[in-house]
Amino acid sequence: QAKQTGRNRFHVFDAQHDQEVQTHHDQRARIAQALQDGELRLYYQPKVNMRTGKIFGMEALLRWQHPEQGIVGPYHFLPLVEDTDLIIDIGEWVLHQALQQMQLWAAQGLHWAVSVNIAARHFQRANFVARLGEILAGFPQVSPHKLELEILESAALEDVQHMRNVMASCQQLGVQFALDDFGTGYSSLAYLKRLPANTLKIDQTFVRDMLDDPDDLTLVDAIVGLAKAFDRRVVAEGVETVEHGLLLLQLGCDLAQGYGISRPMAADSVAGWAASYVPAEAWRAWGSTQWE
Ligand code: C2E
Ligand code: MG
Ligand code: MG
Ligand code: MG
Repeated sequence: QAKQTGRNRFHVFDAQHDQEVQTHHDQRARIAQALQDGELRLYYQPKVNMRTGKIFGMEALLRWQHPEQGIVGPYHFLPLVEDTDLIIDIGEWVLHQALQQMQLWAAQGLHWAVSVNIAARHFQRANFVARLGEILAGFPQVSPHKLELEILESAALEDVQHMRNVMASCQQLGVQFALDDFGTGYSSLAYLKRLPANTLKIDQTFVRDMLDDPDDLTLVDAIVGLAKAFDRRVVAEGVETVEHGLLLLQLGCDLAQGYGISRPMAADSVAGWAASYVPAEAWRAWGSTQWE
C-alpha cells in the first residue's frame, strides 16, 4: 500500500519534472527564434555628470519586443538562457548592435561612452577577446575607448585570475571595464587590487536606500572612497530623486544613472532626450560652489 503510494507520487513528480524541462526547452527555443527574427532591441539609459551637467554616456539594456506581450525586460528571459550558449549569440548581437548605434551617434557628433552588459559565461569563452577584436574591426569609426563592458562583481569573482586576464587583454584593445552591482559581491580589497576594472558601479539598492538607512549610506561612502583610493571611476545607479544626487555629489560621486535622470529609452529617442536635457538646478548650484 505504502509502496504503491510512493510509486504514484514518484510518477507524479516525474511527470511534473518532464513538463518543466519541456517548458524551459520551448522557452529557450522561442528566445532563439526572437533573436533570429529580429525581435530583440537595445534600450539606452543615460549616465550624466551631475557636477558639470554633461551627459557622460549610455548603458545599453536588452529588451524583447514581443509580438503579443509588448516590451519584455531582461529578467523575464535572460535567466533562462544564461547557462546555455544562446547567451553568447545574444551577447554578440548586443555588441554589434551597440557599436552600430555608436557609429550612428558619432556621425551626428554624439561621442558618448556606451556600456554593454556581458554575461559571465560569455566572458569565460576562450575566444572572447579574439571575437571582440573582430567585432570592433567591423566598426573602424568607433573608438574602442568609448566602449565599456559591464560584468557583475559577483560573476567577476568566480574566477578572478581568468577575469584579470580577460580585462587586461580587452584593455589592450582599448575597451574599458566596469564592475556592476558593486558592493553585492563580497570582493575583498585584495581582489579589487587584482582586477583592473576602470569603473565601479555602486549597486542601486544601496543608493536608493541611503537617504533612510545609515548602513546603506556608510556603504556608498565606503565604495566612493575605495574607488578614489584605487583611482577608479565611480558611477551610482538607482538615482531616483534630486536628493539622491545631491548626497552623492557631497560624497564625491559625480556620475549618476537612474530614473531621476531618465528611464531606459528606445535608441531613436536618445538624441532628442539629450538635446532637451536640463540638469537639476540643485546639482548645478552645488557644482558651482566647488569652484569658489
Ligand atoms: P544592470 O546592468 O544593473 O542595469 C540596471 C537596471 O536597473 C536596469 O534594469 C535599469 O532599467 C534599472 N534601473 C535603472 N535606474 C533605475 C532606478 O532609478 N530605479 C530602479 N528601480 N531601477 C533602475 P533592466 O533593464 O531590467 O536590466 C536588468 C539587468 O539585466 C541588468 O542590470 C543587467 O544585469 C541585465 N541585462 C540587461 N541588458 C543585458 C544584456 O544586454 N546582456 C546581459 N548579459 N545582461 C543584461
Ligand atoms: Mg549594467
Ligand atoms: Mg547594476
Ligand atoms: Mg543589476
